Amino acid sequence: QKCLSFIKKTKFLNAYITVSEDVALKQAEESEKRYKQGQPLGDLDGIPVAVKDNFSTSGIETTCASNMLKGYIPPYNATVVQKLLDQGALLMGKTNLDEFAMGSGSTDGVFGPVKNPWSYSKQYREKRQPKPCEEEEGSGWLITGGSSGGSAAAVAAFTCFAALGSDTGGSTRNPAAHCGLVGFKPSYGLVSRHGLIPLVNSMDVPGILTRSVDDAAIVLGVLAGHDPKDSTTVQEPIKPFKIPNLTDVNNLCVGIPKEYLVPELSSEVRSLWSQAADLFESKGAKVIEVSLPHTCYSIVCYHVLCTSEVASNMARFDGLQYGHRSDIDVSTEAMYAATRREGFNDVVRGRILSGNFFLLKENYENYFIKAQKVRRLIANDFVNVFGSGVDVLLTPTTLSAAVPYLEFIKEDNRTRSAQDDIFTQAVNMAGLPAVSVPVALSNQGLPIGLQFIGHAFCDQQLLTIAKWFE
Ligand code: GLN
Repeated sequence: QKCLSFIKKTKFLNAYITVSEDVALKQAEESEKRYKQGQPLGDLDGIPVAVKDNFSTSGIETTCASNMLKGYIPPYNATVVQKLLDQGALLMGKTNLDEFAMGSGSTDGVFGPVKNPWSYSKQYREKRQPKPCEEEEGSGWLITGGSSGGSAAAVAAFTCFAALGSDTGGSTRNPAAHCGLVGFKPSYGLVSRHGLIPLVNSMDVPGILTRSVDDAAIVLGVLAGHDPKDSTTVQEPIKPFKIPNLTDVNNLCVGIPKEYLVPELSSEVRSLWSQAADLFESKGAKVIEVSLPHTCYSIVCYHVLCTSEVASNMARFDGLQYGHRSDIDVSTEAMYAATRREGFNDVVRGRILSGNFFLLKENYENYFIKAQKVRRLIANDFVNVFGSGVDVLLTPTTLSAAVPYLEFIKEDNRTRSAQDDIFTQAVNMAGLPAVSVPVALSNQGLPIGLQFIGHAFCDQQLLTIAKWFE
């Protein structure tokens, strides 16, 4: 009830696309009954959670914040959603995002942008003292980051205790950093993608947004494991995730990738990053500079691979099978074209166009195949660094704290995404686990996060280190 009341109070944040109040209340009743009757409880019994609106939810509209899927009601649950429900979680609703998770601000969805709850914190308002005219124009509020900004705002505004995001290039970690949360991207293959409407199949993973590392570990324990419906999930049985309290970090080797010290990095984030490295060193860890020499190609490489997979993935939205269908019916081809023109925003259409260009017979070798080779080099950089004895990498998550909406939309989506994903993107190419942990407040009173990157499938070790740091 309390969480539902917060959802109502914070409606102006635009965190939710659909609030599933009836579903949540019914589940809460069942949970309570189980509790009262002394029946065994699930790991999440009675815990309110929210789910990004690109995960299929049986009987609940799933839109991807796109005209294309408005009104689409899936007949099944994504595996991760089913697992949450099986453990007793209460589904509060579906959260807002950039259309089809393409973006890094949560500003591009058809239901409008998500507002960062920190915009309304007393500290931020006092420090910033926005001018009245700015307030009228709407520049007084900050973006959440994205594309899982609705999930981040939902957790940060206390409307739920955990939310699912998706992470293809940073979409869980980036909004977590901007909203003062833990944002965890599991190893690729640890958590099922079945029912997550794909952006880039080879990089997408369900992400977890919570207020603490322990909470993230509990949710990971519920979600992780093989799914016969997702052939890329690992076969090995997953042991329950236990996050011990590290007493010391004496035997730990922390790598600081020198390529991440980019000129665009704000001085505040830079200084927190170096303070964090000093902390590890002062507590006995070995902190060394490492090199990921191919990182500089990751954004352009991502662009080729992402748009190519998008071009292929989006082919299913033809007006026949799902959601929107145009009234223009002079021919089947005209109906396809009109449906896609009306259904997708500029960003999605632009990516489909780019992807089809890269996949043309005459371009395929030169772009798509080359990008795949570069992706391997980027991934191998991590293998080399970890092979040399580094346990974990410590990096910034974002260039700065959250920026005001009006500042953010000055640049076009592609430029923004490219800049914003700079610290998070390569991890998806390599399939590694990574977590953003809130570290401190900026001078303006806004949260800043730092990122830890771990060895593939050492998610538990990564979270253990993140918890020590938290
Ligand atoms: N910003 C990136 C993009 O727009 C990543 C998005 C994501 O992780 N979903 O593609």
